[in-house]
Amino acid sequence: MEPVSIYIHIPFCKQKCFYCDFNSYSGKEPLMDTYVDMLIKEIELYRHKLSKYMVKTIFIGGGTPSLLNNECITKIIDALKKNCNIEMNAEISIEVNPGTVNKEKLELYYDLGINRLSIGLQSCYNETLKLIGRIHSYEDYLRNVREAREVGFTNINTDLIFALPGQTVDQWIHCLSELIKLKIPHISTYSLIIEEETPFYTWVEEKKIAQQDEDTDLKMYEEGIRFLRNSGYKHYEISNFALPDYECRHNINYWLNGEYIGFGAGAHSNVNKVRYSNINDITGYMLSLKDNRLPIMEEIKTTLNDEISETMFLGLRLLEGIDISDFKRRFGKTPQDIYGDILLELKEKKLIAYDNEVIKLTESGLVLSNIVFQQLLLD
Ligand code: SF4
Repeated sequence: MEPVSIYIHIPFCKQKCFYCDFNSYSGKEPLMDTYVDMLIKEIELYRHKLSKYMVKTIFIGGGTPSLLNNECITKIIDALKKNCNIEMNAEISIEVNPGTVNKEKLELYYDLGINRLSIGLQSCYNETLKLIGRIHSYEDYLRNVREAREVGFTNINTDLIFALPGQTVDQWIHCLSELIKLKIPHISTYSLIIEEETPFYTWVEEKKIAQQDEDTDLKMYEEGIRFLRNSGYKHYEISNFALPDYECRHNINYWLNGEYIGFGAGAHSNVNKVRYSNINDITGYMLSLKDNRLPIMEEIKTTLNDEISETMFLGLRLLEGIDISDFKRRFGKTPQDIYGDILLELKEKKLIAYDNEVIKLTESGLVLSNIVFQQLLLD
């Protein structure tokens, strides 16, 4: 059976964070039960397709999946178990936001077979959490981590954001040191991007908050890398750090440009050289399924050039780099055959390097990864 990953999108949040432009909505909780029923219908409509796959990883993300009640989450996991072949030791993650979860919910997740938690903390300073529109305090996070460990979870990720308005480099390193003290085995760090149509964008325009300058952003990224590496974390992807054996298998599949199927409003899939995306809007998504139609909004056949470009720039996100023999097995040619002078130039500029039949980003390439990736786009 072919390996595949499954993503489930839960587009509900208690409150919209001020920086967030994800496909998530607040105040739509009354739709949750029907949404979950439609989500299950979507999984059932895929039953036939799913039968040829072995599911290696499942990620229930959002939004805030931990906002769902116990019955809803149980129904989703039961539907997956009924309709998919899930590998014995599959990695099954759920995104959890402090303030929406308690020990009883965590116990249920564990009993259902969920074996990885991804907790959105973002900052360990309560004033900062308030400033960015989070609904929880740092103490809520600490309680949730303690409860998660009490019920048996060992595989825990925590998301943090740097380059937040008013944040200093010392404060950033302090947040990382708090997680290290707690021995959180996986840490994802993201630089704040001020997206249009968010309150933050308007506030920057109105000069109510100040965006961090590029130098500070870069300093925080580099200092963060140094600090986490010195504390025993493996920097295995541009934004991700893990203690040994705690790398996120679900995301590694994305970066290896593997196949995945997404269920839920706005979810994306990449199977059989076709990329699908679902209707973003919750009501539109549900109406389509109510009429027994798959909620697909867009379907694009992946060309060979798309697949090559994606394999290159996703693969280079991993610090282990791209194995040239694996690449040749997949495409019949090496990256050097395909990109020729482009790779030579990137190597001369010391943005990429060759290391034992592997191509990887250099330390400067890590910081300037977007420039490298642009060069790798094939028409
Ligand atoms: S909890 Fe996550 S998805 Fe929801 S609004 Fe905040 S950042 Fe966005």
